[in-house]
Amino acid sequence: MSAAEPTTETGPTSAPVTVRALVARGSDAELRVERVRLPAPGPGEVRVTITAAGVCHSDLSMANGTLAARFPLVLGHEATGVVAGTGPGVDLAVGTPVVLNWAPACRACWWCRRGEPWLCAATTAPTVPRGETEDGVPLHLTLGLGALAEAVVVPERAVIPIPAGLPAEQAALLGCAVLTGVGAVRNTAGVAPGESVAVVGLGGVGLAVLTTARRAGATTILAVDVAEAKRDLALAAGATDFLLADDRLSKEVRARTESRGVDHAFECVGRAATIRAAWRLTRRGGAVTVVGMGAKDDMVSLGALDIFHSARTLRSSVYGSSDPDREVPVLAAELAGGALDLGLLVSGTIPLDEAPAAFDRLARGEGARWVVTLD
Ligand SMILES: [Zn+2]
Ligand SMILES: [Zn+2]
Repeated sequence: MSAAEPTTETGPTSAPVTVRALVARGSDAELRVERVRLPAPGPGEVRVTITAAGVCHSDLSMANGTLAARFPLVLGHEATGVVAGTGPGVDLAVGTPVVLNWAPACRACWWCRRGEPWLCAATTAPTVPRGETEDGVPLHLTLGLGALAEAVVVPERAVIPIPAGLPAEQAALLGCAVLTGVGAVRNTAGVAPGESVAVVGLGGVGLAVLTTARRAGATTILAVDVAEAKRDLALAAGATDFLLADDRLSKEVRARTESRGVDHAFECVGRAATIRAAWRLTRRGGAVTVVGMGAKDDMVSLGALDIFHSARTLRSSVYGSSDPDREVPVLAAELAGGALDLGLLVSGTIPLDEAPAAFDRLARGEGARWVVTLD
């Protein structure tokens, strides 16, 4: 660089970029891969080149209107990549492999200070305005990330460094499905050795719950889904039984738990009907952990006497009640060392152009996680 050229501490990698991204133009509109313009990383921000991004059910809920969203919207919030550019005041080096964090904690609010960063008061809005489409329309990003794209520009605190050399399609899942599923079992529910568990809904999160319950020493692990096609996957992931979610379900669960019901039920769908089902599968004094994110107007009704008499606990697990900055590196080390194998969770890898078809498969309940890989 000659002395005549402008020098900044961020260098030429900090320029605005145009990248390909999966965009929803409206609720239930056809998803398309479009070129979008992202700004240069500002102070405290980084640009990350995405290497792999999962297609999560929450993206589908954004695209189909179950969750309130603003459009045009870049989908995606579960991804891994490499730092490609930095704004002023960023310590991370270009080339650092990272996992994206869709709920970066402020570390200053009441919840952060009491050690519950997953409930941070400054938590990211469902959609955050940033960048623009190629025709100049202001763009929004899912959970401040918009990770189903060739690159993202995000705050430095929304990235978590991981070791180099991890399989990208598995590392991507650490940022949502795996952190959520593992945390629900370890942090929220605290499943103990010898306990019985039911997992309702066998998508990426449900399967992560299932494998973690197995690792936690649960001895009865009942996998529940509406799709018979999930049976082999569930058994391979560590379920002791697969049960169809039909009107015989409560009976089938009681037949496997000395008529009591399970110690822990995990609801991994996000619907009133499945929350009620999980409630009914749980023993007196047991715990129901709601992991799925449902719609605002989907009301769960429980009998007042039932609530009292059953002595069950009903609570949710937001982002696995986890601190991603602390727990993603632990999971990444487990993945690197072979203690954690996420191969079963990855149904297949696809190019960005095939992401719309993956949303269709997700809507039909096919497979676990479809992961978009980029060069
Ligand atoms: Zn997700
Ligand atoms: Zn906070």
